[in-house]
Order: sequence, then structure tokens, then C-alpha cells
Amino acid sequence: MTAQKIDGKEIAAQLRGRIGKAVAGLQAAHGKTPGLAVVLVGEDAASEVYVRNKGIATKAAGMTSYEFRLPADTPEDALLDKVRALNAEPDVNGILVQFPVPAQISQQRVIDTIDPSKDVDGLNPANAGRLVSGLQALTPCTPLGSVILAKETLGELSGKHAVIIGRSNLVGKPVAQLLLNENCTVTMAHSRTADLPAMCRQADILVAAVGIAELVKGDWVKPGACVIDVGINRIDAPEKGLDDKGRGKTRLVGDVDFAAVSEIAAHITPVPGGVGPMTIACLLKNTLTAFCRQNGFEEPEV
Ligand code: NAD
Repeated sequence: MTAQKIDGKEIAAQLRGRIGKAVAGLQAAHGKTPGLAVVLVGEDAASEVYVRNKGIATKAAGMTSYEFRLPADTPEDALLDKVRALNAEPDVNGILVQFPVPAQISQQRVIDTIDPSKDVDGLNPANAGRLVSGLQALTPCTPLGSVILAKETLGELSGKHAVIIGRSNLVGKPVAQLLLNENCTVTMAHSRTADLPAMCRQADILVAAVGIAELVKGDWVKPGACVIDVGINRIDAPEKGLDDKGRGKTRLVGDVDFAAVSEIAAHITPVPGGVGPMTIACLLKNTLTAFCRQNGFEEPEV
């Protein structure tokens, strides 16, 4: 079998298009536009790229983007005051503090300070608890994007056995909860799981969210499975030669051995171009949701 590649770029572009139409409709009906505030502390190069891309996508969807850049030595209290000010700002419907933050700041205290109704990253314990309780919640973006890809690919997920490798608050746990809400039978695997390959072979849907390059091999996968690879790992690529500074070039791979698993699975997300593009699209989706709920507007189906 040669697996069908799940085109996350295309599915994300369609989702962003539908969000843009919904934003235009709400603007026409109510004269209001969703606003997303992104706060970046310090000058981490990768974070700079993420923040820039989020700003571009936010504006392209017709929303208002607010960007705040604070110096790397910003004290925790100053960041928390900024978050509280954004909590109180009516034109800001979503707040995202780009992680990682510098060492003097507690990531958890930042998460705890964001108003749950504006927590478009879905990491505040109030939202995590609501998700587990089956209540209306804002859901972390990458898990939401991963499950949308599975649904777009398979349609009905009810009754399928999903195995998730990784149990982080950011990815593994919310993916498990979302798939449980879709009536999957869910198994969570992690670094202490005994016989991980045998566990993975039981999966109709296998989600890898570990951070180990090409961990999942071809013989870990049930024939015909749907494989969602959340991992993003940079590895050496000697075949690409040297860059202009004489350093060896690198490339991105996921947590799944793409070539080998493609021979066994029915569907697989590539890295890059799979889950990654869904994360920003789902950030916009969450901002739209937060905007509608804060204003009491009916939420358009996107
Ligand atoms: P994390 O380090 O917080 O969690 C990793 C999880 O993997 C842990 O629960 C751990 O128990 C498990 N694990 C570690 N070693 C293992 C092993 N040998 N076997 C089985 N399980 C093992 O990482 P995270 O934040 O959940 O991210 C996971 C991956 O997803 C990373 O590669 C990250 O870069 C990527 N990621 C991608 C996106 C995206 O937009 N596509 C977003 C977030 C994270």
C-alpha cells in the first residue's frame, strides 16, 4: 500500500478561507472585527518567525492583529501586568503569549493569568478542565488541527481505536480528549509504555507527539491506519551539502519514518506540510470562537 498524503497545507488554507468569510459576515452584520494580541518576550529567532506568520494570517483573515514585543529581561510582573491589561481590553478577543518565555518568567503563571475566555491557546486550566468535562472550551490549536485532519480524511471517527504517543498538556492530552469526544477508543502511550511498537500496531488512528525524529517505524503501524505526525525535528542533511557559512545543512522530519510508514498506512501527514499549517488556522478559528462568545454572537460553522 502507498499511503495517501494528507495535505495539511491545503486543508488549512480552506479553513482559513472559511474563517475569512465568517469574519466578513460578522463585520457586515455587527460592525465588529475579532482582534488577536500576540506577545513576544525576547528575540528567539524561531519565535520571531512564528509571531510574524501569525500576524500575517490574522490580517489575511480580516481580523485585527496586535503585536507586542517586550525585551528579554522583562520581569515576570511586567509581563503579567501586560496580560491583565489585555484581559481588560474589549477590542482584544484572543491573547497568545509566545512560548518559550525567558527563564525569569513562569510559563504556568502566564497561562494562569490569561482570561480563560480569551485563552486562544487553550492552555489555561479552566479550559483544559472544561474540555475534560465535555463543556464548551477553547482547545489547544495543534491538537484541534490534528483532529480536524483525521476527520477530514476519515469522516466518522466513532469506534476507531486511537493510540496517542505523548502525554503533554500542549499536545498529547488534549488530542486524547478530543478523540474521546469523537467517540474513539483512546490509548495514551508515553515514555514508560511497555512494548510501544505492539501498542501502536493496534491503532486505527496513530498520533505521534513525542519530539524524537522518525521514532515510529513501518512495522509499528497497522496496515491501513491513519497516521498523524505532530513531531517537528531538525536533523542533519549531509545530502544537501553545506550552507554559505560552511555549516552542514539540515532538514525537518516528524516523529514518524515517513518513507517506511507510507508503505503500510492508508493515510499519513507529511512533515512539513501536515499538522504544522493547521496550528495557525486553528488559532484563527479559536479567535473567531472567542469573539463570538464574548459578544453573544451566533458562532458561524467553519
Ligand atoms: P513534550 O516534550 O512536552 O512531550 C513529549 C511526550 O513524548 C512526553 O509526554 C513523553 O512521555 C513522550 N515521550 C518521550 N520519549 C518517548 C519515547 N521514547 N517513547 C514514547 N513516548 C515518549 O513535547 P510536546 O510539546 O508534546 O511536542 C511533541 C512534538 O510535537 C515535538 O516534536 C514538537 O516540536 C511538536 N509540536 C508540533 C506542533 C505543530 O504545530 N506541528 C506544535 C506543538 C508541538
